[in-house]
Amino acid sequence: MLRSGSLTVTKIYEFAYAHRLPSYQGKCARLHGHTGRLEVEVRGGSAGTAYPGIVTDFHDLKRIMASVVEELDHAFLNDVLNDARYADWARETLSPVTDEDGREVYAPTSENMVLWVGHRLRSDYPGLQIERIRWWESSSSFAEWKAGR
Ligand SMILES: [Zn+2]
Repeated sequence: MLRSGSLTVTKIYEFAYAHRLPSYQGKCARLHGHTGRLEVEVRGGSAGTAYPGIVTDFHDLKRIMASVVEELDHAFLNDVLNDARYADWARETLSPVTDEDGREVYAPTSENMVLWVGHRLRSDYPGLQIERIRWWESSSSFAEWKAGR
């Protein structure tokens, strides 16, 4: 009997994106693309109706993630992360880098994008109980945020 532990559901999306890491010492400073993979695991708190045996309805989670993925798919993530809509959040959350033109910007690393996804989801759905977010940059590399205990 599985009484301990926690029950969660996960939705996975794949999408294409471009980015570059400003002032980075290495080839990631050059414009390049990835097939990214985003995994969002939740414990509950969907906007939908409660149903016995369902943590968060997959259809709800799909709808919740759709607008986030729409913003990321075939996008240049440097523009997404540095969009004025996210300036206050970025200033409080991320560490800026100085780009080649001397401007302070936020670099779309996998780590920063995980935090951005969390911010987006929490802004749109404050009741969503996010357990884990994974941002896969390749089939062998991901950054992860986990809920604190
Ligand atoms: Zn890259």
